[in-house]
Amino acid sequence: MQGLDDRTYTADAEPGDHATIAGWVHEIRDLGGIAFLILRDTTGRIQVKFEKDEMDEELVETGLGVSRESVIAVTGDVDEEPRAPTGVEVTPDSLSVVAEADTELPLDPSGKVDAELPTRLDNRTLDLRKPEVKAIFEIRAEIFRAAREAFREANATEITTPKIVATGTEGGTELFPITYFGEEAFMNQSPQLFKQLTAGSGLERVFEIGPIFRAEEHNTPRHLNEATSIDFEGAFCDHEDAMDVCESVVLAAYEAVEENCSEQLETLGLAADFEAPTDSFPRLTYEEAIERINATGKLDEQLVWGDDLPTEGEHALGQDVGEHYFVTDWPSEIKPFYIKDHDDDETLSTGFDLMHPRMELVSGGQREHRHDRLIAGFEQQGLDPDEFEYYTKMFKYGMPPHAGWAIGAERLVMTLLDLDNIREAVIFPRDRQRLSP
Ligand code: ATP
Ligand code: MG
Repeated sequence: MQGLDDRTYTADAEPGDHATIAGWVHEIRDLGGIAFLILRDTTGRIQVKFEKDEMDEELVETGLGVSRESVIAVTGDVDEEPRAPTGVEVTPDSLSVVAEADTELPLDPSGKVDAELPTRLDNRTLDLRKPEVKAIFEIRAEIFRAAREAFREANATEITTPKIVATGTEGGTELFPITYFGEEAFMNQSPQLFKQLTAGSGLERVFEIGPIFRAEEHNTPRHLNEATSIDFEGAFCDHEDAMDVCESVVLAAYEAVEENCSEQLETLGLAADFEAPTDSFPRLTYEEAIERINATGKLDEQLVWGDDLPTEGEHALGQDVGEHYFVTDWPSEIKPFYIKDHDDDETLSTGFDLMHPRMELVSGGQREHRHDRLIAGFEQQGLDPDEFEYYTKMFKYGMPPHAGWAIGAERLVMTLLDLDNIREAVIFPRDRQRLSP
């Protein structure tokens, strides 16, 4: 049977073909006796030629009367035409209007008129008809593909974990409450506890690519209220092993984009500058990090041991280092309680962050796998261990040492493509102001 998509993509139309091509009316150029309609589909554009005196009058009228962004299907001969944008053109012997577009468009997909980000996000379907917007999401998909492959190479199994949960990972402030059959529940802020529980199972090494929900009040260019987290957790791993896997996933993402997305990089104007990192990333201790930040002289006040790295500090250090880098050996008190301290110095955490010069990409560490220490950690955090019994009790039944991390996928896309705003890296972002579409 002939399906609806039995058409030729514009990029595949070759001189000599008699083809049906379908897509959107990008623009119409009427030069009098001759007119051109540029038809756009997911692979590109093609010129459709109308010679008014030589063609069926009704066909010409329909073709040239159709509004921009309408969907049409054209059947005709494909010929070489060096003056056409792609070197070929179609002379239609039939044309049908599949879906007409209003003449008033909220956004111009041909890109001739710029639109502000909110307008673009309100009309994402039209926005995503622009090649430079589409390219971002094709690259994003390639990053996920490459990450999945890198995880397989690291012997990790893909899992999915619940997004509706009874308790958060670290307590209440960043959680969105919901009602679950009359009971209070929350949208999960991280798969942390579940991935640990699974690392202690027979799977040992697991990964997940899924949504996380954070009720953060602030509206910044690098925070979303619903983000995509790429998570890893591995049994018998320490923080060094976890950093190795992290590095391999980030490098694989860059390499895949460099290798397989040259067209998209070209479209985004990045082809000349794009450089995939090839080496391992430097690993700075927290102490080295604050010393280097202080030495830049860019902060008003010198950082002292125990301070979290302020955003300006991260920027100063990022400029100084000039590439991705890990920060390791944080003071225990500023890393989450479920992260293990160093055995030989309990004031030092095995927690680490991977930084892009512009911002934090990853947090991770080795986990506290000793039941008694874990319970004590909950108590010190002011959390009731009983509420987390589903989690802590598994630490009584043979929980190996384990470590893991999480990358914010949108931050990876944003930094890789040098986007100004994280919202550019999600089709339908959720932020303080935006709940639809
Ligand atoms: P930040 O300090 O930058 O707000 P965080 O330390 O609170 O981030 P983590 O809990 O460590 O974030 O989450 C792991 C990773 O998930 C972060 O490094 C980041 O890449 C990503 N991430 C966390 N929160 C968000 C968010 N609200 N929007 C987008 N990505 C996020
Ligand atoms: Mg973090």
